[in-house]
Amino acid sequence: MNNNNKHSSHSHHNHGDMDHSKHEHVSTEEHGDHKDQHYDHHAHHDHSGHGGHEHHHHGNFKELFLKSLPLGIIIMLLSPMAGFDLPFQFTFPYSDIVVAILSTILIIYGGRPFYQGAVDEFKQKEPGMMALVSLGLSVSYLYSIYTVIASYVTGEQIMDFFFEFASLLLIMLLGHWIEMKAIGQAGDAQEELAKLVPKDAHVVLEDDSIETRPVADLKVGDLIRVQAGENVPADGTIERGESRLNEALLTGESKAVKKGPGDEVIGGSTNGEGVLYIKVRETGDQSFISQVQNLISQAQSQPSRAENIAQKVAGWLFYIAVTAALIAFVVWMLIADIPTAVKFAITTLVIACPHALGLAIPLVTARSTSLGASRGLLVKDRQALEIAQDADVMILDKTGTLTTGEFKVLDVKLLNDKYTKEEIIALLAGIEGGSSHPIAQSIISFANQQDISPVSFDSIDVISGAGVEGKAKGHSYQLISQKAYGRNLDIDIPKGATLSILVENDDAIGAVALGDELKPTSKELIKALKKNNIQPIMATGDNEKAALGVSEDLEIEYKANQSPQDKYELVKALKDEGKKVIMVGDGVNDAPSLALADVGIAVCAGTQVALDSADVILTQSDPGDIESFIELAHKTTRKMKQNLFWGAGYNFIAIPLAAGILAPIDITLSPALGAILMSLSTVIVAINAILLRLDPKK
Ligand code: AMP
Repeated sequence: MNNNNKHSSHSHHNHGDMDHSKHEHVSTEEHGDHKDQHYDHHAHHDHSGHGGHEHHHHGNFKELFLKSLPLGIIIMLLSPMAGFDLPFQFTFPYSDIVVAILSTILIIYGGRPFYQGAVDEFKQKEPGMMALVSLGLSVSYLYSIYTVIASYVTGEQIMDFFFEFASLLLIMLLGHWIEMKAIGQAGDAQEELAKLVPKDAHVVLEDDSIETRPVADLKVGDLIRVQAGENVPADGTIERGESRLNEALLTGESKAVKKGPGDEVIGGSTNGEGVLYIKVRETGDQSFISQVQNLISQAQSQPSRAENIAQKVAGWLFYIAVTAALIAFVVWMLIADIPTAVKFAITTLVIACPHALGLAIPLVTARSTSLGASRGLLVKDRQALEIAQDADVMILDKTGTLTTGEFKVLDVKLLNDKYTKEEIIALLAGIEGGSSHPIAQSIISFANQQDISPVSFDSIDVISGAGVEGKAKGHSYQLISQKAYGRNLDIDIPKGATLSILVENDDAIGAVALGDELKPTSKELIKALKKNNIQPIMATGDNEKAALGVSEDLEIEYKANQSPQDKYELVKALKDEGKKVIMVGDGVNDAPSLALADVGIAVCAGTQVALDSADVILTQSDPGDIESFIELAHKTTRKMKQNLFWGAGYNFIAIPLAAGILAPIDITLSPALGAILMSLSTVIVAINAILLRLDPKK
């Protein structure tokens, strides 16, 4: 894979080494536009910034539809279709003028988003749905207006298309509203990222007094103080103080990392128990968080490879309609006269824009997102489903994604039959009473959960870097690392776990293994992926040992010590190989790759930054739900294709008829037949969408 990536050997502490030269630094303020990114559901881009199309949000379709509805209904009531009078329709003198005026208002108000969309499509030289709808609207509107004028000027009564015009506009607005409702709103990853860093820093001045200053005013070399529990405001090096820093969300390392003078800290990480004095090393663009921000915006500016089948079908229909209309026009001009040629050409164009197409995809999307929601999936970008159904690779983060991300007791072993397990746990919890190590907290709460009360110790001392020792009931005990114990004990513990040995008067009497636990559904997910021919790869910011343990348990390929940039490069390399990549993660360090991957799936319990960068959110934080996602992706795409067939398929019959191919033998598409076919395909499309089901959950 990415073995020759020069970053892959870097430990996650070397964040300063992320390659600056490769990308430009863009300040946060310039990214306000990304807010609109996921409204862009009708163009062929799944992430906004893509190709600079941030402005696809052409209006609030709910409001547009509801306000257009009464106008549209009046137009439809007052525009009997020639030869096909619906019982509720009526006319009165000059009602055609009323209809013409109302239609003009309607096309200006309700038609605008479609025309704006069509302009965008033409700019990209890829006419699609918006172009097709605009064509249908324009032709039916303009021709109908012409018929009204003609009836007053020449007295000639020509069939108009006001009914088709109004119903087409309403159905298209409705379809877009349904789809807009189904798709979640995008958050702003950049903004959330910025929130991780406190606004103010406490700067230590030369006379040792403290001045609170906005982080933006920090300079390299400033000395800042960070109290216990605070977030670190900037990247720097510890001058004084010791503490454990939680970097799990930033780097993916599962354990809080102990740091002291000389060690580097990252802005945005959380300080544990000690007060730290930190010399600022990087500010602004050079900081870890800024680099992650840069990677995210870089990812968002990559063109998406989302293939949007609806868009494609609409594009074909657009060309077919225009070609068929031209042919009809030329042929009818040769064999008949210009008015006849115009009539057939116009009818062809109007018929080519099928109403059912407006609902074919939105109804499936609506059904599919609600099914997804019932399975713990929030699909923010419907294209995620289309892409995921033929994904090749899934990159999975470890900490918090495949594992719970909590450092917990995995196993307690008896090494001596003098004691019961309860007694060992009571001793463990007792001796840990004198330690503030994360291991201590985990063991104490483990004992607590099982209602085991700790043995009370007379004295406890911390052996730095090795463990704790203490005296109870005349015995001396130690709880120390295997290394400190010095003898090799053959103990079978979960791979990657941290082991501590309980020693009584020099004899090992018990052992406790701690680690990050696999989520219960992780194994099954990996199996399911393999069965679906999706290659799983674990990419973690955690160390080699922790990564190896989990990878052996899951039988999955892995990459350890991955910085956000490494993960990003990994996704990029795979994409460059032509593979479709799904990325699953929860942390800030996963955000750039979530944004870059063809489909990004974020774990809900993770950071807001990850959620904002993803296309799909696992609302239950359960990796097992990814299985449902893959199934949903397959079934949704199949439904969409079926619906496009039924929605557009009617055109294959209707277009030639409308073009007058059978006119010589007296068969043309009467408006009545046209309307019936059209309603029929709309009904089929709706029923088919509702029939989308998922297999019952195992
Ligand atoms: P540290 O460098 O503080 O993370 O400790 C190194 C190793 O010593 C750990 O991996 C544990 O095996 C052991 N250790 C340190 N402190 C404790 C403690 N309070 N309880 C049990 N084991 C400990």
